[in-house]
Amino acid sequence: MKKYIIDVQLPNINKRLSYYIKSEKDVESGSLVDVPVGEKNYLGIVESSKEVLGEENLSEFKFVNSIYEKKFFNDDLYRLYKFVCEYYFVSPSNALSLFPSFNIKLLSKNKVKISKKGQEVLECSLLIPDDLKFLLEQLNKREYDLSYIKGKYKDTFRYALSEKLIDIVSETTAKNDRANLDLCEDANEIKECKNLTILNDEQDKAFRYFRRHLNKYSELSLVGTTGSGKTEVYLKLIMEVLKNGKNTVLLLPEITLATHFVDILEKRFSSHVYVWHSQLGRSERNRLLSVIPNLTGKIFIGPRSLIFLPINDIGLIVVDEEQSENYKQDDFIRYDARILARKRAEYNNCPVLYVSATPSVDLGKRILNGEVFSYFLSKRFGDFSLPKINIVKKKSFYGSFSEEFINSLKEVKEKKEQAVVFVPRRGFYPFVSCADCGELVKCKNCDVPMCVHVINGKRVYVCHHCGYRLTTDPVCKKCSGLNFKQYGAGSQRIAEELKNLFPDANVARIDSDSVNTYSKLKAVLKDIADGKIDFLVGTQIITKGLNFPKINFVGIPFLEPLTSIPDFRSFEKLYQLLVQVTGRAGRYSVDGKVVIQASDEQVSIIRKYTTISYWDFLLEELELRKEMFCPPFSYEVIFRWNGKLTEVKDEAKKFREILKEIYILFDNRDIKVTGPKFCPILRLHGNYRMYSLIRFKDEATRKDFLEILLKRYSPKDKKIFIVDVDPLYYF
Ligand SMILES: [Zn+2]
Ligand SMILES: [Zn+2]
Ligand SMILES: [Zn+2]
Repeated sequence: MKKYIIDVQLPNINKRLSYYIKSEKDVESGSLVDVPVGEKNYLGIVESSKEVLGEENLSEFKFVNSIYEKKFFNDDLYRLYKFVCEYYFVSPSNALSLFPSFNIKLLSKNKVKISKKGQEVLECSLLIPDDLKFLLEQLNKREYDLSYIKGKYKDTFRYALSEKLIDIVSETTAKNDRANLDLCEDANEIKECKNLTILNDEQDKAFRYFRRHLNKYSELSLVGTTGSGKTEVYLKLIMEVLKNGKNTVLLLPEITLATHFVDILEKRFSSHVYVWHSQLGRSERNRLLSVIPNLTGKIFIGPRSLIFLPINDIGLIVVDEEQSENYKQDDFIRYDARILARKRAEYNNCPVLYVSATPSVDLGKRILNGEVFSYFLSKRFGDFSLPKINIVKKKSFYGSFSEEFINSLKEVKEKKEQAVVFVPRRGFYPFVSCADCGELVKCKNCDVPMCVHVINGKRVYVCHHCGYRLTTDPVCKKCSGLNFKQYGAGSQRIAEELKNLFPDANVARIDSDSVNTYSKLKAVLKDIADGKIDFLVGTQIITKGLNFPKINFVGIPFLEPLTSIPDFRSFEKLYQLLVQVTGRAGRYSVDGKVVIQASDEQVSIIRKYTTISYWDFLLEELELRKEMFCPPFSYEVIFRWNGKLTEVKDEAKKFREILKEIYILFDNRDIKVTGPKFCPILRLHGNYRMYSLIRFKDEATRKDFLEILLKRYSPKDKKIFIVDVDPLYYF
């Protein structure tokens, strides 16, 4: 046995700790280890190891409880962890906390056994202390778990170990509980999963094109209008990967809405499907985490956090609905799972496949540059045509339904079809203002308007940011007026209006108020699938992959004014929204229909965006972005401070000074700095907010710049400072 001193990084402690371990094999960097810290044991990662050759005194080091086989935290996860640290400028401990592996106790345990010397002492020496005698006698019978012996004998244990009377046996094989799993291991079973739809010519060509790229790293993309059968193409590709005994990682923006899709997968691939999501109970998560490293030839489905699971032998990573902002985490560590998927594919030497009707502008640019191999499906599957889109002019943004809108709903009801009504906001009245002076009613903690909801029949003002509630009308902050006007419409109001207009229709609503639990959401989705719902009213959440055959009409009573968010991605978001929402209609019929009500200033852009192709949209958008030095023509980082006014101002001032000094070290044509200045939303959760946005010509410059900057600048209170690399949200 060799002896090693290892440096271990833990997910909860911001420095490396050293431990002592005996092992037959070399201890590799990146190995998962169970180590004691104080009275508790934690899982951490080996960052470096050093063999101990001489008879050094090692008593200052604690012992590693156990070391896990590489598959429990494989090399590609280790590299991913390093990448997260470097790319997002986060501490190793924070980066590690993204990986679920550290939150569980795996099954292996280190053992303690008596040594030769220990046996001799026990047999020959009469003068040993009682405690030591008991310890040696116990171990003379058999090996025991390290933690048990250590806890029972404490100092005596340490003494016995330092005198080499006992040995620790590192059990490097974690127990494999595969046998306990109800899995069919018959290889023939996969061949029987053949309920695949027969692909049309175009789909088949796409499939063959992608199949050629399996077995090595490349970036692939499958682009096609909604309903063109993209899913069937990648399912067939997954089947191919499965047959080769490799795993597929399938990322979805929203797993809770995908129950219907998961059902389909489970029918196709039976027990080869594993679903990962945040709603899993602790014990189920633990069970999965201890099993997953042993699995091959499986499909793992889940939201962005799936990318951190200890899955081995990955043969394909699919990123479905690539355009979705859900892939970017918006708190704590602001990672983008699309970038991490690319990295993990690279480390695994397998392809990553992006699937979308409207790829993000970033991906679009890379497709045009030839960096990503792309296949384009132009036809709707089964030759169902795209829905007919009517744009109806409205006098104001809000207000009620046009005749055309109502008639379409009537028709849906008569034909016993289903309709989806998309509403951008939730609640009843999104805005309330003073009737005398026009001042908006705002949250006391946040610089945002409060919205009126009807909760248990009562009007309640709600802040969507901090959750603050008011059950009575306030007094106007500006003129002390007591009269208020409420206006606009949220999903709750639209649903109520539809119920009044169609008393015999079943109206359901999907937004974060009405379906605040997974089981409620599942129930509504089941009702839709069973045809019990006539009209479904919903917010953004319904744009993410809601796919039911009887939905033949989509109505949009109004859209947010484009100018409401000063964000260069507004056009991209509007385009994607229109394609996604209208694409829900007539997926399986020839007469799908869409009615969009729009204000005068919205009509032309909506008309344009519902008629031009993705590629035309992309080219136009790229030109604009290039002119404005926006991504993907620049690489961004945003710094944000949230805190007390003086605190935030002081930090921003300090930051500005350091920024200036570093800025002159670089070519100023490569860098564009905004701020630090106050955010358009001045306060949130009672905190004042400032930001600074920096754009760089290329990624390397950004990295160099940030390395210097973040070495020089660190805030007094780390909690008030946020670094967001490749931000999607600005204000
Ligand atoms: Zn609201
Ligand atoms: Zn007023
Ligand atoms: Zn608030």
